[in-house]
Amino acid sequence: MSPIPRFLRLALYTLLILAGTVLAAGWAMQRAEQQALVDDAARGKAQLTLYANALHTLIERYRALPAVLALDPQLRAALTGPIDATQQDALNRKLERINGAARSSTLQLLDRNGLSVAASNWRLPSSYVGHDYGFRPYFNQTRAEGSGRFYAVGVTSGIPGYFLASAVTGDNGEFLGAMVVKLEFPELEHEWSKGNDTLLVSDARDIVFIANQPGWRYRLLRPLHDTDRSEIGSTRQYDKQSLSPLEYRSLQVFGDNSYLTRVDAPDGRADYLWESLPLPPEDWTLHLLRKPQMAAEERRNAGLAAAGLWLALVFLLLFLSQRWRLARLRQRSREELERLVEERTRDLRTAQDGLVQSAKLAALGQMSAALAHEINQPLTAQRMQLATLRLLLDHGRIEAAHQALDPLDQMLTRMAALTGHLKTYARQSPSGLREPLDLAGVVDQALQLLEPRLREDAVSSVLHLTRPAWVRGDAIRLEQVLINLLRNALDAMHDKPLKRLEIRIEARPPLWLLTVGDSGGGIAEEHLAKVFDPFFTTKPVGEGLGLGLAVSYAIVHELDGRLSVDNRQGGAHFSLTLPIAPEMNTR
Ligand code: ADP
Repeated sequence: MSPIPRFLRLALYTLLILAGTVLAAGWAMQRAEQQALVDDAARGKAQLTLYANALHTLIERYRALPAVLALDPQLRAALTGPIDATQQDALNRKLERINGAARSSTLQLLDRNGLSVAASNWRLPSSYVGHDYGFRPYFNQTRAEGSGRFYAVGVTSGIPGYFLASAVTGDNGEFLGAMVVKLEFPELEHEWSKGNDTLLVSDARDIVFIANQPGWRYRLLRPLHDTDRSEIGSTRQYDKQSLSPLEYRSLQVFGDNSYLTRVDAPDGRADYLWESLPLPPEDWTLHLLRKPQMAAEERRNAGLAAAGLWLALVFLLLFLSQRWRLARLRQRSREELERLVEERTRDLRTAQDGLVQSAKLAALGQMSAALAHEINQPLTAQRMQLATLRLLLDHGRIEAAHQALDPLDQMLTRMAALTGHLKTYARQSPSGLREPLDLAGVVDQALQLLEPRLREDAVSSVLHLTRPAWVRGDAIRLEQVLINLLRNALDAMHDKPLKRLEIRIEARPPLWLLTVGDSGGGIAEEHLAKVFDPFFTTKPVGEGLGLGLAVSYAIVHELDGRLSVDNRQGGAHFSLTLPIAPEMNTR
């Protein structure tokens, strides 16, 4: 599969991010809208309760009025017999007064047949007096139960109202008639029409009879049964009003009596939050319809916030992945570097081992010449000695022959020591060998190896060696260091009249300090920093390789020691420190 081109991938990512942004914004806007609806519904519910309370309080205020008036002796007396004109006039005026004081709509007195015998509106053309209301349900209810109530459109006045009635009874409890108070709600409707909400009150048949907006009254919230229709007709509840259905369907349910509804409202089709609250005592239902109001700004803010959040998230992710990639890259290059360093270190170590070895070989070569010279002389001497010995034996001088053997013996012992040393000196010692050894012993060995030159050059050596000076190290390599230092000192003093070599070992806990001082004139100031560099030499070609000090330096460092140089008392002064081997302290 061929890899997707870079620009295509970029475009794809951009598209994805954009799509995500749009989706997030859309989702958030929808959520915000939904939430606003739910909040609105809850607010509507709370408001509905307030409206219901207001209505309830209004009705309650008048509920007791007919009952109290039914106890009035004058009214009761009037119903016991026929009423003459003066009596009726007095009753009319009385009811008119009370109605004015109670601020009810109308008060009227019905006789036992439902005929209105007196009414507070007697002066008006729409006076109730003389009309028969026996067909009204509240009258029959009052006759049967002692009290009644009914909402209806006034057949005489055409004004709808709530009729509350109480029975007027005789001394023996017999039914004499009914005291009726009519409540109209124009003030309530007026009050309610101030808000933006549509408020409706429907009766038990779901017919809207109170509405704060024009065109909503006398609408059916559900279809009527035939029985309903005939009952409404006989009680003339809504009299001449035509009842038309209100078309609506609910889109979403929020809870009990709480819907989002699409309504063919009188002022056009619209979606409403429709809250309903039953009013049990009256068997009515109060409705609150509110157009959902989601400010465009709120929607936009929600969308923007979501888009912002989404983008922040995307960029955070991008940032993190970038960081992660960088870290991985860094980690990889660090590993690569470490690997390289390790490789180089290994190479260097090999090279160093090679250097040590070649330095040793070079020293060996030089020493071989010296040794050949050194051994040649005793060999000649020994041959002569042997000849003398043979002569002595020939002459039977056993005693003298015996004596002549001693120097031979000594010479052989020394030669054996020399060759023994050389044998071990040239071997490749495994680096890192750490055996307990006495530093003073190492000095002894080195001196012994160089003894011929010391003697030849007539060097006076001064030794102050603390013994034993236990260190952990590789005897052969340390010996090589010592030999290098000593040979350099001898070289430096070669043509000097005063040849003085001073070697000291002192304890400087936690270190041993070994110093080698000579009287060879020292090292030039500008060379002091370079003498430990490989191949630095001031000696003529063929004599010096410039490796001795470099190798020595390396060996000492490998053993956790230090090697340094300065000029003192007319010569170079080398200081070598090595850690005191702790477990050897007491030995
Ligand atoms: P090489 O002996 O082969 O020259 P070294 O590394 O042993 O190599 O010594 C490097 C140089 O340090 C010598 O050539 C010499 O100039 C200087 N040097 C070393 N030891 C002494 C000393 N004791 N006195 C004066 N110069 C010295």
